[in-house]
Amino acid sequence: MTNIEIAGIFEKIADILEIKNENPFKIRAYLNASGIISRMSENLTDIIGGGQTDIQGIGKDLFSKIKEIVNTGHLAYYDELADSIPSGILELVRLHGLGPRKANFLYENLNIKSIDNLRNAIDAGKLYNVRGFGEKTIENLRKSIEEYMVFRQRFLYPVAAEQALLLEAYLQNTDIKGDIAIAGSLRRKTETIGDINIVVAVKDKNKKKFKEWFLNYGEILRVEFVGETRISLVLKSGINVSLHIVSDDNFVCALQHFTGSKLHNEELRMTVRKCGYDINEHGIFTNKETAGGKDRIRVNNESEFYGLFAMQYIPPELREGVGEITAALNRDIPDMVEEKDLKGVFHIHTTYTDGKDSLEVIVEACIREGYSYAGISDHSVSAYYANGLSASELESQIEYIDRLNKKYKGRVKIFKGIESDILSDGSLDYNDKTLSMLDFVIASVHSKFNMSESMMTERIIKAIKNPYTTMIGHLTGRLLLERNGYPINVSKILDYASEYKTIIELNARPKRLDIDWRYIKEAIGKGVLLSINPDAHDASSVNLVNYGINTARKGWAEKTDILNTRDASVVANILTSIRDHKKKLK
Ligand SMILES: [Zn+2]
Ligand SMILES: [Zn+2]
Repeated sequence: MTNIEIAGIFEKIADILEIKNENPFKIRAYLNASGIISRMSENLTDIIGGGQTDIQGIGKDLFSKIKEIVNTGHLAYYDELADSIPSGILELVRLHGLGPRKANFLYENLNIKSIDNLRNAIDAGKLYNVRGFGEKTIENLRKSIEEYMVFRQRFLYPVAAEQALLLEAYLQNTDIKGDIAIAGSLRRKTETIGDINIVVAVKDKNKKKFKEWFLNYGEILRVEFVGETRISLVLKSGINVSLHIVSDDNFVCALQHFTGSKLHNEELRMTVRKCGYDINEHGIFTNKETAGGKDRIRVNNESEFYGLFAMQYIPPELREGVGEITAALNRDIPDMVEEKDLKGVFHIHTTYTDGKDSLEVIVEACIREGYSYAGISDHSVSAYYANGLSASELESQIEYIDRLNKKYKGRVKIFKGIESDILSDGSLDYNDKTLSMLDFVIASVHSKFNMSESMMTERIIKAIKNPYTTMIGHLTGRLLLERNGYPINVSKILDYASEYKTIIELNARPKRLDIDWRYIKEAIGKGVLLSINPDAHDASSVNLVNYGINTARKGWAEKTDILNTRDASVVANILTSIRDHKKKLK
């Protein structure tokens, strides 16, 4: 059982308790524990196996429940709770804009027990005139259902990656010799994953034995297909797996093929055909009519594979059919940014607003991660639900940071900032005097998502023109697998970001990864600088930036395209130059 799975059980318990209208403190306790577990870097199974008897922040009762899950694979209390309500209601709770209270109301008053029930009730007009369900709410629910249908088969990258790594480790744990690799969208590091693709190359005589080994994996929910070269099944976590079993001399071509994407492979195939080759999952063949038919060509790795066609090696992240083949032929593959290039991080929340750790604890975490600067940006006054800072609270934080900067001199530089709400008219929180005391301002939309595309675009452009706006936070506001972003004209916004030298954030939280990689190439082309930000709400989230690196690489970003690959002094200069530049334009 993984930490994420255990956290998931606690989250579901909280949902059920809320549906049943139980004690809010009890509900909080489960949600808190779920949060702590999902942020832990150590494996709970190891911790408990190692004899540890408590976890900071988790009470005795919940700790013993974790122990029960780790030791037995399930939790009697949860099983009992889950049996007490129709299972479809838990799915209903996941719908954006519904939540446990309303789901329970619909169940008790209209006997709605599942998403299908709800959809039928909406179509039949049964929700009209029901208390708490205005026309707008119903319309939004209809949209949420549509989105849910698309989303429910997919998983966030870290969730799928964790499952795939566990499976890969299991597959390697046999004495059957072979090559094993994760392929598919996971290898291309896309933001959400539909299924896990694994390529295995073993000697033909061992294929049967290896398939048996795979089918013995303890995490399998059901097997869907067993064929000569492929097995498809569903894991207990709900994720689909396809295992491709090929002969030991065909690993490279199979790995390349099953890494995809389809678009990349199609374009590649057309390109190599022009020079007299054919490729597929079985190998590379010369196209010429020869006495023995097609000649097969051997390669030892993917560099040789692409090299054979006079191409540069194409890293998996780039294989999306968006110009990488032409680039590889012209030796124009970008030298993409890497984890080790990051020198500091922006966008950190602390206990001043809705962060879980104190400012000092987070700054210490940044030092431990090897960063030489940290940009603190708590929520602004309009974000009342996140305990946003009043002007005087912000000013006292500024004084506090000034003191800390003296203390940490030579170790880390703390930049003073704010994540200011972009109000519906495009203005920011605070007056110019307060804003001018800050080193940087991240301007983000957190409210009024239902504007038209043109109004939302204007709202963000107005924020870009503000001389104090350093960067725009999470550009589209999307929450992957939960809700689409609000509609905006990204190209137009990037034009203004370029003219006003405003940085665009690449929010690295796995649920956001916003700006989308599909727009990064365009942003870079327009000379817009990006900043890879963890949007950290606790010390352990500082290294979420690694997911942002994946996204930046998918968008062809190089080191120089990213603000926080620079030294603190260079960054400081850039921050002031943005303000000066905008004041001149005004
Ligand atoms: Zn935000
Ligand atoms: Zn934030």
